[in-house]
Amino acid sequence: MNLASWLSRSGLSHPYMPAAALGPRVAMTYGELALRAARLAGALRNKLKLEPGDRVAIVAKNSPDFLVLLYGIWHAGLAAVPANAKLHGAELGYILEHSGARVCFASKGLDAEIAPHAPKSLERLIAIGSAEYNALFEADAIDVVSRAGDDLAWLFYTSGTTGKPKGAMLTHRNIAWASHAYGSEVDPVSPGDAILHAAPMSHGSGLYIMQHVARLGVQVVPESGAFEPDEIFALFERWPNVSMFAAPTMIKRLVDSAADGHAANIRTLVWGGAPMYVEDCLKALDRFGPKLAQIYGQGESPMTITTLSKQDIADRDHPRWRERLGSAGRPYACVDVVVADDDGRPLPPGETGEILVGGDVVMKGYWRNDEATAAALRGGYLHTGDVGAFDADGYLTLKDRSKDLIISGGSNIYPREVEEVLLTHPAVREVSVIGRPDAEWGEAVVAYVVGAAPPAELDALCLSSIARFKRPKDYVFVDALPKNNYGKILKTELRARDAQRQ
Ligand code: AMP
Repeated sequence: MNLASWLSRSGLSHPYMPAAALGPRVAMTYGELALRAARLAGALRNKLKLEPGDRVAIVAKNSPDFLVLLYGIWHAGLAAVPANAKLHGAELGYILEHSGARVCFASKGLDAEIAPHAPKSLERLIAIGSAEYNALFEADAIDVVSRAGDDLAWLFYTSGTTGKPKGAMLTHRNIAWASHAYGSEVDPVSPGDAILHAAPMSHGSGLYIMQHVARLGVQVVPESGAFEPDEIFALFERWPNVSMFAAPTMIKRLVDSAADGHAANIRTLVWGGAPMYVEDCLKALDRFGPKLAQIYGQGESPMTITTLSKQDIADRDHPRWRERLGSAGRPYACVDVVVADDDGRPLPPGETGEILVGGDVVMKGYWRNDEATAAALRGGYLHTGDVGAFDADGYLTLKDRSKDLIISGGSNIYPREVEEVLLTHPAVREVSVIGRPDAEWGEAVVAYVVGAAPPAELDALCLSSIARFKRPKDYVFVDALPKNNYGKILKTELRARDAQRQ
């Protein structure tokens, strides 16, 4: 089963239905999208001589072309490597090298940023919309190349705790399950319904493409390429039955926005990727009504671990309604979710432990990283690294993020990665990076530094090698960092001290 067959069937049966839109305007019908994907597939196989299983990277801002590329790659039997367009050229270079991508498609402008970091294994770097790109669509269309459920479809790079990102191998089967789970438990899709891609299509939002293709929905990309509440509200008015996946901070911005958009057209606003404060959830309910759903997932079990349904969120009469709003909901039907102790033994409700996940949606492993695969999938379950507890009703509450992950503006930032960069400054003796609660960003990156380096130089250092959004928003200079007997820096204590300073 190749996921591309969902598009080719929709193209055959409903060629005139809208498939993709840029802002208010239809950009492609199903017939057009399916034909472009089939021609691109022909070019990838016959002109660029790629073989089934080869990786092709997409480094693109959200656009209708993202759909053409994703489906063209799958149609040809290849694996897609969608990468976050906000990453630094050096970070993208690492992903290109590690994935062994032979071809990379990049939004105009990003190609120049990638070029100096392109590995030898990359044969072509093609700017979307260039003459070279347009010529690919002159190739003859080919039939969908057959794939097994276990074949790689999407190499999903997640930031690694040790600095280097890891590639979660998502197969055609994994994504099919995630898509069906979304349609049956979060948000049923009917022909003509819209999905608004305001969050990156290379990440969570992109995993909601497939169910909409299978069910003849229309994928809407904001023209600004950014998240502007005024524009989002205008698109809610333009597109009937519209859904959107958003980080909690994005939902909060919509709620706080003065834009006078009404919510009548909204089908579902799905949040995930980070916790939403209960107070924020209540305000969103007041503004949008019973349209909110929550999902908890991670790249390794794409968008699919637990979900808090629209009905649960709106069920004000339930005696435990508020507690449930603070939870991440119930496991999806297609997964086993276990809260386990350090030895992997299941814990009873009320007890806190690591969250383990089993099922057909769980990744095959990490690309070219047997050690990390064995650790993450030991005992037949995905070890999420997240900590939580079930209540007696079967609702899961996430207690704490292990690994000291910082989530700022919906993006994950691993402190270690930033610390390693800062430590390269000769005047930095020690450093510890933490997240500080922040009304706008969810969390702000803060660096505690032992040493006398000027903040401007630290900023410049960060900008030279990691993405802009990972750069600390504040530097605090101290004589010493809190440590335990073994000399390990105590981040929990540092966070407490930081809260006191604030
Ligand atoms: P990623 O792999 O980048 O999607 O990040 C996944 C991580 O985000 C998870 O392991 C959780 O720590 C966190 N996360 C995802 N969804 C939620 C949620 N609904 N509530 C709280 N944290 C979440």
